Amino acid sequence: MIIAANFKTNKTRAQTREYMDELNRFIHLEKIRAEVIVFPPLTALDSFTGTATVGVQNAYAVENGAFTGEVGTEQLDEFGIKTILVGHSERRHVLGESQKEITRKFNYFKALGYRIVYCVGEKVETREAGEEALMAYITSQCEGIDLEYENLVIAYEPVWAIGTGLVPGKEDIRSIHAQLREKSSRPLLYGGSVKIGNMDEIVTIENVDGVLVGGASLYVQSFCQMIKTAEEKI
Ligand code: PEP
Repeated sequence: MIIAANFKTNKTRAQTREYMDELNRFIHLEKIRAEVIVFPPLTALDSFTGTATVGVQNAYAVENGAFTGEVGTEQLDEFGIKTILVGHSERRHVLGESQKEITRKFNYFKALGYRIVYCVGEKVETREAGEEALMAYITSQCEGIDLEYENLVIAYEPVWAIGTGLVPGKEDIRSIHAQLREKSSRPLLYGGSVKIGNMDEIVTIENVDGVLVGGASLYVQSFCQMIKTAEEKI
């Protein structure tokens, strides 16, 4: 089971340190076996003591160089970061990253052996067009991606469910994950408005190997409670 937190553009360095201290204390005291990953904002990346993995929400596909405003692997190496989120819907749809750029990024970090949490998910109009259209869309988001890469985790995150409080029905998640399972044997996460109240149901769906949590991960107590719920399902 993998439980991942995406802070997006939230939390300062000090707040992140406090959060990580509390989270790592909880993981240790409760002897949590589930894998916990946290993606803080760039300015809060650091080396933390404890078992939770720290990943980066985004990076440029270079070691270093003249790429104003970006970070490369030289900056990530400083903190021992080897986990990256690629293809998140906000990067695709808000920041305009194309599938070509996403594929380039994926291949660069794959070649370096990074753990890649690769996000796919449809907009509401695609969902309304039916499951066949939805799967065709998700397939197009997997173009150029090695779905059997050994360090890959796939996160299915419907765009319309992210930060909205809306969640697909249990049967919808089951069906999409079953079809993703046919494409990849790697762990499959669900993401989109996961919270304490629906965690129990989501982590028991077949082929759901964990969750990617945005808003509800910002409160360390809530996130720890969600980890505990997932842990009981292991
Ligand atoms: C996300 O951004 O990856 C996400 C799942 O957000 P939220 O949990 O807030 O819907």
